[in-house]
Amino acid sequence: MKPRDRLRIAMQKSGRLTEPALDLLNRCGLTFRQSRDKLFCFGEGEPVDLLLVRDDDIPGLIAQGVCDLGIVGRNVLDEFRCTASEDVAALTEWRPLGFGRCRLSVAVPQDMDYRQPQDLGGLRIATSYPGLLNHWLKAQSVDAAVVTLAGSVEIAPKLGTADAICDLVQSGGTLVANQLRETDVLLESEAVLAGPQALPTDERGDMINLLLKRLDGVIQVRESRLLLLQTSRTALDAVTRLLPGGPQPTLLPVAGQPDQLMLQALCAGEVSWRQLEEIKKAGAREMFVLPVEKMLA
Ligand code: ATP
Ligand code: ZN
Repeated sequence: MKPRDRLRIAMQKSGRLTEPALDLLNRCGLTFRQSRDKLFCFGEGEPVDLLLVRDDDIPGLIAQGVCDLGIVGRNVLDEFRCTASEDVAALTEWRPLGFGRCRLSVAVPQDMDYRQPQDLGGLRIATSYPGLLNHWLKAQSVDAAVVTLAGSVEIAPKLGTADAICDLVQSGGTLVANQLRETDVLLESEAVLAGPQALPTDERGDMINLLLKRLDGVIQVRESRLLLLQTSRTALDAVTRLLPGGPQPTLLPVAGQPDQLMLQALCAGEVSWRQLEEIKKAGAREMFVLPVEKMLA
């Protein structure tokens, strides 16, 4: 294959991962000129172009060297790794990206008497992930028939083409709507940045390293929250103990109220209502949770 001096990233052309993937790349300072057929998007600032394809094709395109990196669900990447022949390049997850979260689970009809994976023995299980399912069945020493379907897996038990299914689940609503019950989680998935195990040694390798650094910054900021609250000096210890992880909080005096303090803490992740309620019970008030726009330490 002809050497390339521009980096090429594959991502889903249209689907659940498209918008968040583009948004993430934009935040990393990458912008693209939309081409008319939208298969190939030329990068404007940095030497990075996009290839817009079906998500299932992404691991293969990286393994063949058509693309250098890809944004794809862990479910698709791991299925490829389970089933790819020995002679294609080994792929790896360079970064988890924190969106497109779902899980690959086994589900059975609600009225089935299911207690453990062994109860699947001798049954037919429909899935679009035969590699991952076979791997799991083997690990559980269960002998079941895997029925590979391209889509609409969840209706297979009703149609009588399978006894159970193994499919992606997000909220579980689709399962309930089909009178199915989730029994075992095979894989926790999210979108990942996938690439070859060994990075190219030319300029593309340098570009990948730059991109990884920017990604780390973007992901860190996206997950950070600034927590602001007021507390009395006497409750300070109790309040501080409940703060979600992060660097030491900053304390500021409150004008005219010498026994009160304003506390400011950077938290590495969501702050839930329940956490806020706990902190309030410990003596805090006037609480704010703010997203962080940019951060430069
Ligand atoms: P394509 O045309 O690219 O093949 P698709 O129908 O396979 O599209 P989508 O339904 O857009 O793909 O899902 C893309 C990815 O989004 C999945 O592989 C998975 O990683 C993730 N995902 C998150 N939640 C769900 C869900 N509830 N169902 C299916 N996929 C989900
Ligand atoms: Zn797909």
